[in-house]
Amino acid sequence: MLENKNQSRTGIENLGEFGLIETLTKQVEINNDSTLLGIGDDAAIIHTKQPNVITTDMLVEGIHFDLSYVPLKHLGYKAIMVNLSDVYAMNAQASQVTVSIAVSNRFPLEALEELYQGIHLACKTYGVDLIGGDTTSSTSGLIISVTAIGHQEESKIVKRSGAHDGDLLVLTGDIGAAYMGLQILEREKAVFKANPNNQPDMEPYSYLLERQLKPEARKDIPLLLEQLDVVPTSMIDLSDGLSSEILHLSKNSDVGIKLYEEKIPLDPTVINVCEEFNVDSTTIALSGGEDYELLFTISQEDYPKIKANPNLTVIGHVVDKSFGNHLVTRGGEQIEIKAMGWNSFQE
Ligand code: ADP
Ligand code: MG
Repeated sequence: MLENKNQSRTGIENLGEFGLIETLTKQVEINNDSTLLGIGDDAAIIHTKQPNVITTDMLVEGIHFDLSYVPLKHLGYKAIMVNLSDVYAMNAQASQVTVSIAVSNRFPLEALEELYQGIHLACKTYGVDLIGGDTTSSTSGLIISVTAIGHQEESKIVKRSGAHDGDLLVLTGDIGAAYMGLQILEREKAVFKANPNNQPDMEPYSYLLERQLKPEARKDIPLLLEQLDVVPTSMIDLSDGLSSEILHLSKNSDVGIKLYEEKIPLDPTVINVCEEFNVDSTTIALSGGEDYELLFTISQEDYPKIKANPNLTVIGHVVDKSFGNHLVTRGGEQIEIKAMGWNSFQE
């Protein structure tokens, strides 16, 4: 299917660690004034005028990704995205990343170059500098660990903990697509195994596949909020499902949350594919992960500032902790929200 048919294979053992690092990072460009020194020394130097936010995420082969259907370039891109998303979820702008990899000699240089193409593309597109990392060997699988650094004025940094009774719950974009994209990929992998000559028509699923394979972090949202003069009271990114992120906000803010089923924004393709797979689209929205949208709360007085924006949907509101967390269905029923998020430990 999406396998790399690239024929040339340069063994990484022939390059040595320094040769490998040099090859992978030779095209790095520094674009942020706050990067005083990048790759090549014992440590990088950064100097931002504002407070920093720092976040790390690790992706492990077999747990977080399956190389039989995820192209390495996409994996590199996604590894950067998942980290930038956490920076944007603090209402900060990202400026630097470090990338550490553990690789076995099962991966030729060409494969790692593909991985780094995705990393470089993500850095360029999002205006962040790759300033360092570490390279080591592993016995079999591939592990990628990325650290992202961002900055924001202290008064505008948004945590998970500031939501208050009466605040509105706002979601960016639409959700459920990345999870259904994964379902499509897994189905096609099974079909391909049974019949390698089968050429599936993926066109109808392109939005879902893109959301799964090439997610985009919401760099635009902190900028939009700045423009609209809104500082959310709390915020989180959607790496797991909506329900588990709602529970994080409510727990950290010590409040309850009411979510309205009819307000959850779904792309029409998600609705169609949920029908095809015979699954409930609300369940997918609640428990499917990896959308990398942002979920935040704002005080009611900020509502006029956001209400006309097509990127933002009010999907619920904050209530007193004693009311707990509930989904109000289209039929008016109230269902308790439980953690149903995608969790790599459940695999
Ligand atoms: P040290 O032994 O001092 O830790 P390394 O040889 O590990 O130095 O790294 C040399 C330089 O290359 C450092 O600036 C380091 O941050 C950078 N680097 C190492 N591995 C990677 C990688 N996988 N991606 C990006 N930069 C890397
Ligand atoms: Mg090192």
